Amino acid sequence: MNIAFIAHDRKKDEMVNFVTAYEHVFEGHQLYSTGTTGLRIMEQTKLNLHRFMSGPLGGDQQIGALVAQNEMDLIIFLRDPLMAQPHEPDIIALLRLCDVQGIPVATNVATGELLVRALQRGDFAWRELVHKYKPGEA
Ligand code: PGA
Repeated sequence: MNIAFIAHDRKKDEMVNFVTAYEHVFEGHQLYSTGTTGLRIMEQTKLNLHRFMSGPLGGDQQIGALVAQNEMDLIIFLRDPLMAQPHEPDIIALLRLCDVQGIPVATNVATGELLVRALQRGDFAWRELVHKYKPGEA
């Protein structure tokens, strides 16, 4: 599965703790992140991530491009609900695209845990069918 991680600054410690706790689940997947979030995760775990640009510089939009193409399977997006972000339009756009494509997206750790446990159980198998039968591809 293609999984993306994004965490706002005051949520980065929480993200690192979350990813560390489920490192054994994430290690078999293709992992993506915004710039600083990915750096923090790679510093604290053995995971390898493809890091896009930092969120405020366009990283959310780069992940959004994969969502638009229905290539992203799961997004863990720990937003800071108590602080305004300069790239709020990008954040809203990313969440909108997740709703357009029906992509599971967690915006807090409680939901993230439920989705990761679902991933462990194999509940994301339907996404393999999406990849296999994507329009315009063999
Ligand atoms: P960052 O981007 O991982 O580069 O900090 C996330 C964000 O703040 O949107």
